Amino acid sequence: MPELPEVETVRRTLNELVGGKRIERVTVSLPRIIQRPAEPEAFEAALAGHTIQSVERRGKFLRILLDGLVLVSHLRMEGRYGVFRQDEPVELHTHVRFRFDDGTELRYKDVRQFGTMHLFAPGDDLTQAPLNKLGIEPLDDAFTLQAFKREVAHRTTKIKPLLLNQSYIVGLGNIYVDEALFTAGIHPEREASTLKAPEWARLYDAIRETLGRAVEAGGSSVKSYVNGQGEMGMFQHQLLVYGREEEPCTRCGDKIVKTIVGGRGTHTCPACQPLPGKRAKAKSGKAKAKPRVN
Ligand SMILES: [Zn+2]
Repeated sequence: MPELPEVETVRRTLNELVGGKRIERVTVSLPRIIQRPAEPEAFEAALAGHTIQSVERRGKFLRILLDGLVLVSHLRMEGRYGVFRQDEPVELHTHVRFRFDDGTELRYKDVRQFGTMHLFAPGDDLTQAPLNKLGIEPLDDAFTLQAFKREVAHRTTKIKPLLLNQSYIVGLGNIYVDEALFTAGIHPEREASTLKAPEWARLYDAIRETLGRAVEAGGSSVKSYVNGQGEMGMFQHQLLVYGREEEPCTRCGDKIVKTIVGGRGTHTCPACQPLPGKRAKAKSGKAKAKPRVN
């Protein structure tokens, strides 16, 4: 599933490839992708004749800004965009085609068919579902250590599911939460309200650094992600714990373990990310809690 860095890469690529292009005709061949308006024919008709001005992002949603319209698109599991000449063969699972007046077209392909598109009048997109309940952007200037703590530090939930909750912070998915928690040396099952000030500072830095590096590298490509220009992201080669169970920790050499936290596969180094357990609190002499293995 694409995460924030991948979506940011798609955004930048699309901005370059289709910014300034005028849509002549839109064809929807899988109605369920179109969530708003209700009728795909209305979606097709509304977009004809409009020019793409720029491509923005809110969390993992793309916001394609046109003159007088905003198209909100979520790639979900497998959605991807590509720009083709109109005479090029159309690949299987291509569900939406935006034909431009210059002989090219933007194609949306989605094998799993979970992707969504919503069309809005400008401004309405941010005040209505699906964008209206999204939390703070981790790469924005507004995401300061204070803002981060204000949002989550008092909560009694485990830190990993908290970071994954898009209504607090947007765009952090399973891969980068594992990476950031490892970098900060914090166990994913720690209750948020028990984290100390230096831990919040480390976690904040780790989130910014992990996402920032991934955006620089063009996003990771753990499964099948390809960016809008057909290039595979390179960040997967730099992942520190995600997908590295049984491999030695790059920091201490201990084995990376995979557990389940909040229903999600979770990768940790038990030595670098200790979980203070009841025994540790009772001062039983055991310094380290054993990692839970499910
Ligand atoms: Zn380690």
